[in-house]
Amino acid sequence: MNKEIKCIVCGTQTVEVRDITITSTVQGREIVITGLTGTRCPNCLEQYVDAESSRRALEIANKFRKPAIIFKRKITTSGGRRVLGIPEEIDRALGKKENADIWLEGDKIVAEVY
Ligand SMILES: [Zn+2]
Repeated sequence: MNKEIKCIVCGTQTVEVRDITITSTVQGREIVITGLTGTRCPNCLEQYVDAESSRRALEIANKFRKPAIIFKRKITTSGGRRVLGIPEEIDRALGKKENADIWLEGDKIVAEVY
């Protein structure tokens, strides 16, 4: 598909490329994402990442984002089942919510509480 995108900086017709590299800072760490698709201005070299690559870059950047506060807990056993307590500080923030959808993301147990 041929995208007709003119450079915002100089008005030149841009050309499709698949080698865009962007650098982003996530919580003080610099991350470099390569191989993004989009267009580039042959005149001033301004680059325009396409929608799909923008989404991908954001996804990658989010993987590097860690919460500011992490509570360390031991998994205990109760009645033959493994139990993980909810830290008081998190429980307070949850308010009266009593239901949770729990799933696994790699080594992460994710709980959506409602
Ligand atoms: Zn340009």
